[in-house]
Amino acid sequence: MLDQAAIDALRTTPVAPAHNLIDGLPCAASDGQTMNVISPIDGSVLTTMPRSTAADADRAIDAARRAFDNGSWSDMAPAARKKIMLKWAELIEEHAPALAVLGVRNNGTEISMALKAEPLGAAQTIRYYAEALDKVYGEIAPTGGDTLAMIHKTPVGVVGAIIPWNFPLMIGAWKLGPALAAGCTVVVKPPETASLTLIRIAELALEAGLPAGVLNVVTGEGAVVGAAIAESMHVDVLTFTGSGATGRRLMEASARSNMKRVYLELGGKSPNIIFADAPDLKKAAKVSAAGIFRNSGQVCIAGARLLVERSIQEEFTAELIEAADAMAIGDPLDLGSAAGAVNSARQLEQNLAFVAEARAAGRPVHGGAQLLTETGGFYMAPAIVSDVEPTDRLFREEVFGPVLAITPFDTEEEALALANGTEFGLASAVWTSNLSRAHRMIAKLQAGVVHVNTYGGADGTVPLGGVKQSGNGHDKSMHAMDKFFDLKTAWIAL
Ligand code: NAD
Repeated sequence: MLDQAAIDALRTTPVAPAHNLIDGLPCAASDGQTMNVISPIDGSVLTTMPRSTAADADRAIDAARRAFDNGSWSDMAPAARKKIMLKWAELIEEHAPALAVLGVRNNGTEISMALKAEPLGAAQTIRYYAEALDKVYGEIAPTGGDTLAMIHKTPVGVVGAIIPWNFPLMIGAWKLGPALAAGCTVVVKPPETASLTLIRIAELALEAGLPAGVLNVVTGEGAVVGAAIAESMHVDVLTFTGSGATGRRLMEASARSNMKRVYLELGGKSPNIIFADAPDLKKAAKVSAAGIFRNSGQVCIAGARLLVERSIQEEFTAELIEAADAMAIGDPLDLGSAAGAVNSARQLEQNLAFVAEARAAGRPVHGGAQLLTETGGFYMAPAIVSDVEPTDRLFREEVFGPVLAITPFDTEEEALALANGTEFGLASAVWTSNLSRAHRMIAKLQAGVVHVNTYGGADGTVPLGGVKQSGNGHDKSMHAMDKFFDLKTAWIAL
């Protein structure tokens, strides 16, 4: 649907200065301040966007509160809400090529992945929840006797959605879809380095007929705009994807303010476990390389720790190196790129520091150099670091970059102990031909997702969320809607 010529026609389209969207109207920051939007493709200034103040966030929250309280959305007949959300999904699909290219110019994800995951993924998610919203029923409790007890599901109110930069539309839709379908109103804080497409799809929501104030977008710094949303007495639920450090702050802000519910989707250091009896080592290596290096490793579920049975370590590492070296890294607007640019100069610096530290500790490192281009931008070759010890920072901390840590093991018990040996618990994978072992690992791995003989399964019908310090609560699937409903019990004397 999107060929190289069509992409090239869009790659230099001027991008107008971005704006906030509050109460259905585009607006600047109240004090007129802006911030530059840098394109990671070449480091150039793509456009500007509002550097909003806490007062701007409060204005958006007030608009969302009014829109919720006046029932313009929550009291609308479900069939009518569904129609608007379906129209919105359709408009996002219609604008998918332009949205995909704009998103890539903003965040650097390779276009082959961005098109599918971002506008098309978002449209699919919004359609899923649109279709679900008129299939939600309350309950009658089996109290018996001379009472009737009804359990109503009511929309929770105003939702604050704080979004990360790696997949702003896909992850944004995982929050907006169920929140709006439940009848809530929303204030979105887009990420500093990937705000443009979220603003655009909010405009499309208005075009689809979403009433003013139901979906508001406020750009700017997390520590200002995000913090104001987190501290607000008028936000009922926070839904967040991002780093653990920010997640912790949001919980503190909730405790300090109105004890709003806080749903966190945080980072990971997901183990990808290769047993010597894996059915197809070549395939396992190829899928494992993609599972860490696509989108320059900026994927929450990336298989960043490869645990390999010692007897095949050498052979498997060679396969991995071959698979990684075959990945074309470069211009994210080239359909042939397997990975594009690192999102920001800051993220690139962090990635390179992890590689340098591993090298200094004497770990064998393949790749991992900064890739310099004539046009500038932030690029890095995939790094494969062998013999990583559980005490290494690279074993325990998330890089969020194209850096794979390999650690060998001898037994299934050791593999499990290594896999579960971090503070995270987001994704995991096991490659084995032994069915009993696969089931044992599924049961014992401390993770929200376990893959068997595959990596990176993605479908809106399954929940995605972590255990331990990878978060609480799930995005995607019907389970995600529960986050945006309150349960209200009504007792009726008969
Ligand atoms: P981040 O936590 O710095 O930023 C995420 C969002 O939070 C941004 O919109 C930012 O503006 C906002 N923010 C920052 N400081 C804030 C504050 N004090 N108060 C309120 N909001 C604030 O993380 P990041 O650098 O954007 O993303 C990288 C991290 O996100 C990685 O650790 C990665 O694993 C994680 N992540 C997790 C998932 C998942 O599904 N679990 C998905 C993507 C990214």
